[in-house]
Amino acid sequence: MPDGTQVPDGRRVVVVGASMAGLRAAEQLRAAGWTGAVTVVGDEPHMPYNRPPLSKEVLAGKAPFDSLAFTPKASTADVEWRLGTKAVAARLAERAVDLDDGTTLSYDGLVVATGMRPRRLRCPGPQAGRHTVRTLADAQGLRDELTRPGARVVVVGAGFIGCEVAATAVGLGVTEVTVVDPLPLPMVGPLGPLLAHALLRRHEERGVRFALGTGVAGFEGDDRVTGVVLDDGTVLPADIVVESVGSTANVEWLDGNGVDLADGVRTDEWLRVGGRPEVVAVGDVARFPNARYDGVPRRVEHWSIPTDTAKHAAKVLAAHLADGGGELALAPFAPLPTFWSDQHDFRLQSFGAPVLGRDDVRILDGDPDGDVLVGYHVGDRLVGVVALGGHAVASKAARYRAELLKQPALSVQGAVK
Ligand SMILES: Cc1cc2nc3c(=O)[nH]c(=O)nc-3n(C[C@H](O)[C@H](O)[C@H](O)COP(=O)(O)OP(=O)(O)OC[C@H]3O[C@@H](n4cnc5c(N)ncnc54)[C@H](O)[C@@H]3O)c2cc1C
Repeated sequence: MPDGTQVPDGRRVVVVGASMAGLRAAEQLRAAGWTGAVTVVGDEPHMPYNRPPLSKEVLAGKAPFDSLAFTPKASTADVEWRLGTKAVAARLAERAVDLDDGTTLSYDGLVVATGMRPRRLRCPGPQAGRHTVRTLADAQGLRDELTRPGARVVVVGAGFIGCEVAATAVGLGVTEVTVVDPLPLPMVGPLGPLLAHALLRRHEERGVRFALGTGVAGFEGDDRVTGVVLDDGTVLPADIVVESVGSTANVEWLDGNGVDLADGVRTDEWLRVGGRPEVVAVGDVARFPNARYDGVPRRVEHWSIPTDTAKHAAKVLAAHLADGGGELALAPFAPLPTFWSDQHDFRLQSFGAPVLGRDDVRILDGDPDGDVLVGYHVGDRLVGVVALGGHAVASKAARYRAELLKQPALSVQGAVK
């Protein structure tokens, strides 16, 4: 295959995935001193844009679609963008990536930034009326339908995105919004039961209905969905279904290279892939051990992670490309994960890794009927804090950042798989 571009000095980093993590990787490569070419390949037609507003402000019509693009930085003015182009295969031993336009890009360094796509329900029934929320096109399509008068909405999946979409739909004036989930409480996996109960109450008080402890058996309707059939045969009438049942990593293009691709791209402690110092992974797709915790490799789908991983991986890659494989003088990657989630008139704000301490949750401030701040523990060690409520309690959570950063690494005995 022909090489897709000319590189003046013959040195190039190829970034696959033109979203937040790909953009941050390009910026951070420049910040780390890489002066060679950077080519970013992305299968969406847009320049990188911010996803969190897709389920909130954009869906609510409070932010225009064109407000989502990240502000370009001068340092990346010479980056080549191959948009609307998909990487279909990688040959890591040959340092080459094949694209769906028939060209091949050779590289000195490769950044994997291909993120996630929504998982879909494999149930019988029509497709029309069924939505996911990951891309700009998804949010546009869903908003067009949500704003039709009298729409009845069923959200399948009571995780972050499902809860956010349900809240936004109610805010838009949709009177029938039901969230279905096989688990007994919304967001109980990441938050544990104490906060999940508080969250359920808040959603119900604001008009969201829940069908919990049940899965979906199928969809009713001929040309488009008219109802959601639950496991026990109950049918929830629906004009719009939003499937928010998790995500699948975009890794197929890396098949055949001997890389561990089970649930994302497995990296080492420095975000390197497959024992190759010239290949790194960043963003949602990276499954990395966090030296701050138990060393178990996990993917982390929070907005903070594209920037954190890009900063670290770019330094690792630039150092390797500069000295051709000398000793790496960088500490292992040890980010403090951070997320927020805006739902109705309240916010969830998290620092650290609450999921590791969800069996030992203690109230640090407030009370679950009002604004509340809780701490998650492994033994005596605080591993995460989450605030639920207004901005004041979210700020209180932020004050725990320094304490969380000071904690020693978790022992492997504390590992949660
Ligand atoms: C609706 C929504 C709301 C969110 N809200 C919050 C929030 O409130 N708080 C929070 O902390 N986090 C939130 N997040 C999470 C956060 O936005 C993500 O963690 C972040 O967008 C991940 O960026 P990424 O670049 O790693 O992956 P992605 O954004 O998934 O980008 C990967 C890119 O690679 C492209 N790609 C895939 N395969 C190929 C290929 N073979 N060739 C070329 N290109 C390819 C994809 O099309 C995509 O453009 C939200 C996410 C979504 C979807």
